[in-house]
Amino acid sequence: MTAAKKDIRAYSSEELQEFFKVQGDKAFRGKQVYQWLWNKGIHQFDKMTNLSKETRAFLDEHFTINHIAVDQQQRSKDGTIKNAIQLFDGRVVESVLIPVKDRTTACVSSQVGCSLDCKFCATAKLDRMRNLKIDEIFDQVVAIDHQSKAYFNRPLSNIVFMGMGEPLMNYNNVLGAIEKITSPSGLGMSPKRITLSTSGLPKLIKKMADDGVQFNLAVSLHTAIQETREQIMPFAKNFPLLDLLDSLKYWHEKTGKIVTYEYVVWEGINDNMEHIRALVDFCKQVPSKVNLIEYNAIGEDAFRQARPEIINQYMEFLSASHITATVRRSRGKDIDAACGQLANKNKQNT
Ligand code: SAH
Repeated sequence: MTAAKKDIRAYSSEELQEFFKVQGDKAFRGKQVYQWLWNKGIHQFDKMTNLSKETRAFLDEHFTINHIAVDQQQRSKDGTIKNAIQLFDGRVVESVLIPVKDRTTACVSSQVGCSLDCKFCATAKLDRMRNLKIDEIFDQVVAIDHQSKAYFNRPLSNIVFMGMGEPLMNYNNVLGAIEKITSPSGLGMSPKRITLSTSGLPKLIKKMADDGVQFNLAVSLHTAIQETREQIMPFAKNFPLLDLLDSLKYWHEKTGKIVTYEYVVWEGINDNMEHIRALVDFCKQVPSKVNLIEYNAIGEDAFRQARPEIINQYMEFLSASHITATVRRSRGKDIDAACGQLANKNKQNT
């Protein structure tokens, strides 16, 4: 019986160099392999053309490269592309390519399903199956970069962790993937072009600040009133707004970066002056800006997008307090690719 082959992407550059040395080969072969894996995003040993045929066959004998496959693509009339991504164990997540003027943004997933229970989000209706691994997150980025080049003639420019899952519940792998995406020996993308969106987990926001991350932070706030937040995002009972605010102050002090709040206004939930005032007060505590996101219906639920007049009122009061706010229109709605709609509608995880 032969032992199962190890996934080569579990090894660091140093470990690969050591592996070749032990085989009596040159250590720099390890560097070359690492470069094929993490800089070029190659999934077959045979494509590592600066290695001899023998070395490639040798690697193939000892290792595998587990990788994702784009299983299905749907294209929206606005250019957005939604990908169903098949993982090596058959599970499925979704990633979205969003073309905006001369930029391309990848919206990537961090978990199969989600552990949180936001009442307005389609992903929350799925069970959380597992965390994605570093390479599974990395591969989504590479796949969307290829699509951007193929369909729009330009490389991927931005990444948002706003797909399925709560990225901070998969802290090590999400930060590990960002490291591969940003490091010069990886894809070399600027961390300034990456935004991690979290529902707001205070301890882990502080940890990110301590870990010296360079990317941007978005927080799905939706209301600055604790009681309302507990109703629409029940996990918030364990993570009160006061703790969240405290962690965001810490984030700003340590990183010097501002925070973006994502905020949907719903009829009968947060469409009144009390909520507007609470948001303005909340925003004043930490340098921040607000994205008012359009609500994307997820089927039979009680949530309705508030009237445009209310959104205008929000904009007026925020702007009177010198808080930058934008109204973000949804993309890819016709193919269920917009915020909160990712639910593997055409695929089932079993
Ligand atoms: N779990 C992370 C990442 C998801 S990001 C987070 O909560 O931030 C997806 C964004 O879309 C979040 O701001 C989320 O609150 C928002 N969202 C979820 N469902 C939505 C819906 N049906 N319509 C509009 N936005 C939604």
